[in-house]
Amino acid sequence: MYKKKVNSLDKSYFTEILFSSPDKYKNFEKVTSETETIATMGSCNSYTPASFKKNSLSIELKKFNRIIQFDKKNKLITVESGIQLSELCNFTLSHNLWIPQIPGYPTITIGGLVASNAHGKSCGFHGTINKQIKKIKIFHKTHGWLDLSENENKEIFELTIGGFGLTGSIIQVQLKLEDFLGNNFITEIEETNSTKDTLDKINQNNDSEIYYYSWNRSDNLKNFGKGFIFKNKINTNKKNISKKISSKINNINGNLFLNFWNNYTISFSQSLYYFFFKYLKSNSYEENFQNVIFPFIGKEFYFKSFGKKGFIETQIIVPVKKLDLFVDEIQFLYKRYEPSITLYSLKNFKGKKKFLRFEDDGICFTFDFVNNSNSIRFIDELDKICENHSLTPSIIKDSRLKLDTIKKCYEEYEIFKEDIYEYDKKRIYKSAITDKLLI
Ligand SMILES: Cc1cc2nc3c(=O)[nH]c(=O)nc-3n(C[C@H](O)[C@H](O)[C@H](O)COP(=O)(O)OP(=O)(O)OC[C@H]3O[C@@H](n4cnc5c(N)ncnc54)[C@H](O)[C@@H]3O)c2cc1C
Repeated sequence: MYKKKVNSLDKSYFTEILFSSPDKYKNFEKVTSETETIATMGSCNSYTPASFKKNSLSIELKKFNRIIQFDKKNKLITVESGIQLSELCNFTLSHNLWIPQIPGYPTITIGGLVASNAHGKSCGFHGTINKQIKKIKIFHKTHGWLDLSENENKEIFELTIGGFGLTGSIIQVQLKLEDFLGNNFITEIEETNSTKDTLDKINQNNDSEIYYYSWNRSDNLKNFGKGFIFKNKINTNKKNISKKISSKINNINGNLFLNFWNNYTISFSQSLYYFFFKYLKSNSYEENFQNVIFPFIGKEFYFKSFGKKGFIETQIIVPVKKLDLFVDEIQFLYKRYEPSITLYSLKNFKGKKKFLRFEDDGICFTFDFVNNSNSIRFIDELDKICENHSLTPSIIKDSRLKLDTIKKCYEEYEIFKEDIYEYDKKRIYKSAITDKLLI
C-alpha cells in the first residue's frame, strides 16, 4: 500500500490516495482488512472521481484479469473483473462472439463496466451491459465472498449492476456473449440540417442491428445541430475479424498546460470535420472493428486539450414524448448563453430506468463543454429541465451534477440509498462520487 496522486479524467478532482494493486486473492483480502474505507478501482478511466477519494484506499484489480471459463456452445464466459475490454474482445472475437455493450475505450475493465452499467454504440439496439450479466462474485469486507445472480442474492445482484462499487469489490463476472459474424462494419453517412432533422432521421424504432448516432455542429447558432448521422452495420461478407484491437494504447490522462479550445478553434475544427465528411468522404465505406467501437484510440489528445481546468460532459436520456420540448429548450439556451461546446452527439437508447442506472427508452444527448462560466450557466439550466421533466442525466460522466438533481431525476434514489445503508451499515465502500450521492 502506498500513496499516489490521482485525478479524474475531467480534471475536476485532484488528490492523494492510498493505493494498492494486489496480485493474489490472499493479498487482496489482507489489504481489504487493513482499512476502514475502500474504493475498488478498475482502470480509473471514468470522467468523474468514481474509484477514489482523498486519503482513502483504492484497491486496483487490474492484475485479476484472467479468463476463468469459456463455454462456446452456450456462449458464456466467466472473467476476472480486471480484464480490459481489448483483452476480452480479442479473445471472444476470435470465436465470432462479443458483448455488444462496449464503451468507447479499450482499457476500461469489466468491473468498471458492470459498476457503471455501461453502454456502447449499439445502445438503441442492445441496451446496456445489464442484459449480458448472468453471475457476479463479489468480496465485501464484512459480508465476505458472495455469489450473485437472478437466483442467488438477487437484491445484491441488482444493487451491484450500476452500483458504483458500493456493494463491494466485483471479482468475477459471467457474461452472455452474442454472435459477431463478420469481419468489420459498413458505415453509411447521411447529412442532417438541424437537431430536429437528426431526430427524424435516427431510426427510433430500430429492430434491425444497425447502430445510429450523430455528430452535430455546435460552433454557432446558424450551424447548431447541422451534421451527419452515422449508421454502422456488421459486414457479414467475411466471417472472421480482420484486425485485432491494438495493445499499444496511449495514456488517456494528463493535460496540456493551456486550454486549446475557444470559439475560433471550435469553429475551425468543426468546419474541417464537416467539410471532410461532406466533400471528401464517401457516403458508404468499410471500417474496422477498432475504429467503430473504440473511436477514441489515437485521439487521446482530445481529453488533454482542455488544460488544467478540464472539461464537463453531460449525457442525458430524453424520452421520445419530451424530445420536442427538450430540443426547443436547448436551442433557446444556446442562443442565450453561448456555451463552448466541443462535442454534440445524439444516439438512440433502449432500457428500463432502475436505481441509479443510466438507462431508459429515448434519445441520448451528449455534450462536451469547455469549463467556463457561459457553459456552466447553460448546464445549470439543463439541470433544471432534467429536474422538471424527470430526464436521466448520467452520474458517472458529470462530476458537477448535484444531489438535488439526481434525487429529482432518479425516482428510485431513496430505495437505492436505503438498500445500500441496510446492506453496508458501516458504509465501507465509498468514492468522491458516492460521498456526494449518499449523504
Ligand atoms: C474515452 C471514453 C469513452 C467512454 N465511452 C463510454 C460509453 O460509450 N458508454 C459508457 O457507458 N461509458 C463510457 N465511458 C465511461 C466508462 O465506461 C466508465 O466510466 C467505466 O466505469 C470506466 O471503467 P474503469 O475500468 O476505468 O473503472 P474506474 O473508472 O476505475 O471505476 C468506475 C466505477 O466502477 C467501480 N469499479 C471498477 N472496478 C470495480 C470492481 N472490480 N468492483 C467494484 N467496483 C468497481 C469504481 O468503484 C467506480 O465506481 C467512457 C470513458 C472513456 C474514458
